[in-house]
This record gives sequence, C-alpha cells and structure tokens, in this order.
Amino acid sequence: MKNIVLYVAFLTYSLGFSQTFTEQDTLRGSITPERAWWDLTYYHLDISVDPDEKFISGTNTIHYKVLDRNQVLQVDLQPPLVIEKITQDGKNLPFKSNGNAHFVTLEKTQNVGEFNEIVMHYSGHPKEAVRAPWDGGFSWKKDENGKDFVATSCQGLGASVWWPNKDHMYDEVDSMLISVQAPKGLMNVSNGRLRSIDENTNTYHWFVSNPINNYGVNVNIGDYVHFGETYDGEKGMLDMDYYVLRDNLEKAKEQFKQAPKMMEAFEHWFGPYPFYEDSFKLVEVPYLGMEHQSSVTYGNQYGNGYLGRDLSGTGWGLKFDYIIIHEAGHEWFANNITYKDIADMWVHEGFTMYSESLFIEYYYGKEAAAEYLLGIRKNIRNDRPLIGPYNVNKAGSGDMYNKGANILHTFRQIMDDDEKWRATLRGLNEEFYHQTVTTKQIENYLDDQVEGDFEPFFEQYLRTANIPVFEYEIQNGKLKYRFTNVIDGFKMPLKVEMAGKTVWITPTTAWQQKSLKANDIQVDPNFYVNVKKV
Ligand SMILES: [Zn+2]
Repeated sequence: MKNIVLYVAFLTYSLGFSQTFTEQDTLRGSITPERAWWDLTYYHLDISVDPDEKFISGTNTIHYKVLDRNQVLQVDLQPPLVIEKITQDGKNLPFKSNGNAHFVTLEKTQNVGEFNEIVMHYSGHPKEAVRAPWDGGFSWKKDENGKDFVATSCQGLGASVWWPNKDHMYDEVDSMLISVQAPKGLMNVSNGRLRSIDENTNTYHWFVSNPINNYGVNVNIGDYVHFGETYDGEKGMLDMDYYVLRDNLEKAKEQFKQAPKMMEAFEHWFGPYPFYEDSFKLVEVPYLGMEHQSSVTYGNQYGNGYLGRDLSGTGWGLKFDYIIIHEAGHEWFANNITYKDIADMWVHEGFTMYSESLFIEYYYGKEAAAEYLLGIRKNIRNDRPLIGPYNVNKAGSGDMYNKGANILHTFRQIMDDDEKWRATLRGLNEEFYHQTVTTKQIENYLDDQVEGDFEPFFEQYLRTANIPVFEYEIQNGKLKYRFTNVIDGFKMPLKVEMAGKTVWITPTTAWQQKSLKANDIQVDPNFYVNVKKV
C-alpha cells in the first residue's frame, strides 16, 4: 500500500465541547484518498442468511467509474465479519486491513473514465443488534408462531456492519440488486421491486433502480403475507405494498389505511414521492422502525402515537401512527435529500419531525400543527449544537428532532407566506433530487427564499446551543427591546401583539425603542425564542 497516512483526528468543536476521535473514526467518516478516486455505480449484494447459526455469507460486486488514477481502493467491513477474498477480473487481489477499513491493491491500471468492478467475498456472524434501530446490526427474533423473524438496521453504525461497501454517505450507488437466500418457507423483503424468486434456493432478488444510501439497504426475513394498493399520485400510479406477519394481516389492513393518507399529505407539501419506479412499501420488523428507502420498516405495534405515547403531550400525537408518518416522511428528507456527513443529520430528522406537523396541518389545520410543534419543545435540551463534528462519523445533539422542527417552524413565521413555504419545501426536493447534501446547501436555499441575510439565524440555531432571549422593558410609554444570548450580528423579525395590534419588529443585539400605550406585549409563541421582561 502506498501513501501510508497516519490519520489522527483530534477535534474540538464549538462551545468548548471537545471529543477525541480515533484513526478509525477518520477512516470511517472522511472521504479518504482511497475513496475519492472512484465513483460508485452499481452494487450486487448476494447473500444467504442462516438464522439458526446467526451466520451470513456471500458476495458484494462493486461497480465503479474511475475518476482519478489510483491503485489502492478502500472498502469497509466490520469484524467479526471476515473477507474471504477480493477479486478483479477473476484474479485474487492483495489487501491490507486497518480495523473496519480494507485497502485493496489493484493490479490492473485504473484508467480515468473506465468502469471496473471488484467482487468481495465475505462471511461470518455479524454484530447482533443490541437495541435496534439505534444500536443496530442483525436482529434475530422469532414471531409468535416460533418462526424466524430477522431484520437489519444500521444507521450511524454503518452498513459495513453487515455487508462490505464504500461506507461513506457522500457517494450513493446509482442502482442496486439485492439477492437474499432465506430459509425455506420464509420470505425476504428488501428495497425496490421484487424482480424474481429462485424457487430452488429460496432466493429473493430485489432491484432498486434509483440512487440509495448505504444505511437504507435492508434485509427482512419472516413469515410474511402481502397486500397492497395503487395510489393515484402526482407522478401517476404508485404501487404501495405491505408485508406483514401472517397473524397481523387484519390489524395491518386497518392501521395501514394511514399510508395513502400520508402519501396525499406529503405529496402536497413536498412534491411527488421520490421513488415511483421502486414502489413504496411498509414492511413489518421486530424493532420500532426505520426509513429504509422504498421499504420503510414498521414495528409500532399497530397503534397510534409513538408506541402508544404522544411525544407532544397535546393529544395531536395520538391522531396518527408515528412510525408510518415519521419514517415515510424520511423518503423526502433522508432518502431523496441525504446528508453527505452524519454531522448534518438534522437535515433528515429536523425536516422529518417537522413533516409530522405538516401531516397534522393537512388533516386538522394549522393551529393543531402549531400546538404539536410547541408541545414537542419541552423535549429540547439545548445541550450542544445540532450539527456535529465533521469527517468522523458523529452526529450532533439529539435536539436535531424537536429543535430542528421548531427552527423550521420559526423560519416559516419569518417567511409569513404559507404558499411560498410549501413551494420552498417542494423546491428543496426538486433542487436536491436524489442528491447528497451539506447543511450549507440547505441553509443557502432557504436563505434565498426570503429577503435579508439569514446566515446568522442558521449559525445561531444550528451551530450554538443557545436560544435567543428577547429582552424588553416598558417604561414611560416606551418599549425597549433587544436580543441577548446570541452571536454577533444576530437579528430576526418577530411578530408581537401590542395594544391590540399585531406588529413586526426586528430586534438586534442593540437596544431599540418604540412608543407604546400598553402595560405589556405578547411575543408570538410560534417563534422559538425565550422572552424576558426586565
Ligand atoms: Zn427519523
């Protein structure tokens, strides 16, 4: 291996919050030179799954285009899985391993513009999920009839926990074939469309015709039964298919009536479902759920709320099945628009938590949606910034959900134009269709939709953990006001009730004043700020 680089990442990020990162974090989380020179085009993942032995084995054929000349290629696979061999054009290739990263020395000259492929042969006992989907891997469970019920989940941890791939989010494969041999009598459901079944070996071939991120790829094996429908959507007829355990068919037929309702609301707000070619599916799994692209996984026990709970405490959270709505919302924000670096995960979770309120708004009105958003504010901790450290595969604060949604709600107040807001959300999904993005790209797009410069707004809310304090006093018929607890240059329009009228003001960090004939004012609670009368 040439270019032996010692990757040492020792990063400190804002607010004095410091963490030490390892060489493995950097190999996993950055676009290393051994990743940068080739562009993924196609994967064929072909594995057999043995639940009795908790064992998997097979191959992943990785097709790529050469962007720059290089002879060393990084692929990722996490122990205890073992690479048996790596071949190109049928010849074994030497490789050196450094933890989860494996550096393959290619013998054939890699000419720019050429399409090549390598085949990774691997096997072993993959990491078992501890608390899927958060601490993921393989979930080896049984259904109530004692039949195997198996599923994968791997966001954050990385898809290389169960299959060898280029485990960085910036590069999505253009299409993918997933072939899974399941135990006799059971079915495998993966992403995309079922292309064929090999009856002799009980192998299911699923084809995804759109770009897909690594953690979106999944295997689900169980005693599934199928039902489905066609939905007359913005881009034509969409196949919506549901795979559930045999005993749950009747419950599912009732609960999944929310799926077309979801589709109607989200196409209204976000534009066409981004994967018509691959269909939309809900697939029952033995854990809560995950946004697996075109095969959203479901384990919310066929009830409304989040395992029966209302995260907002307002009652609105019990009007819908949290997992159907939230995980399907990710088809637009996570699967269509995907972060390049998990540091920007708020782009997935902030928008998707916000999508829950848009579902409520579509069916129950704007006030209900606002109540829901204000309700989830009590879950915000403001412990650290939403954005995490880059290039080390680390997410930011868990506030990315509730606070992320409230930042968007606040931005909508500033825009103060419902139709324009809807056009903005649809515009994002068009502008960044099937792309991986940075936060900056999303911020700039939003900023361009309103008058003025909102860079300090995003800086404040995304990159610090401080919530602006609107400070005011009323004396001798005058209102004095300003923002504190904010970065230099922060300003934001606010809607305020004064003496029976709605007035817009734009506080900055400097005191401003206004004549006022009233004893107090009321800041519109839809703006996520703290209010302090001095
Ligand atoms: Zn989510």
